[in-house]
Amino acid sequence: MVCALFHLGIINTEKSAIRVKKDDLDTSLNTPVFCRQCKEMKCLEGEEGIKDKARNRFVWSRVHAERCPFDALSILEEKAYHCNLCGGDPQCIKVCTPEAIRLVP
Ligand code: SF4
Ligand code: SF4
Repeated sequence: MVCALFHLGIINTEKSAIRVKKDDLDTSLNTPVFCRQCKEMKCLEGEEGIKDKARNRFVWSRVHAERCPFDALSILEEKAYHCNLCGGDPQCIKVCTPEAIRLVP
């Protein structure tokens, strides 16, 4: 919720750059899915010129998100939501009281 709220000013978990996948057997295995901040961005292969800009952007086009080999981004209609680390101050880490998320270099 905080991701969409911080970036878009709305509460809509479908427009969040981080989502939680539940396992099919519902054994409480919850896996967070988000952009891995790859050095070599397969999602932008052939478009080197826009990599730096794209890293900092939250809203991406669906086309780039669909090229991600990790299926990391939430896609809704023609847009996708990309973790830009909130410009260096990750909001999801701040509000996660069980401390389930950490940012490591
Ligand atoms: S969108 Fe996918 S390929 Fe691109 S940087 Fe993120 S995890 Fe890596
Ligand atoms: S670091 Fe920011 S952009 Fe990335 S998932 Fe967390 S709240 Fe969203």
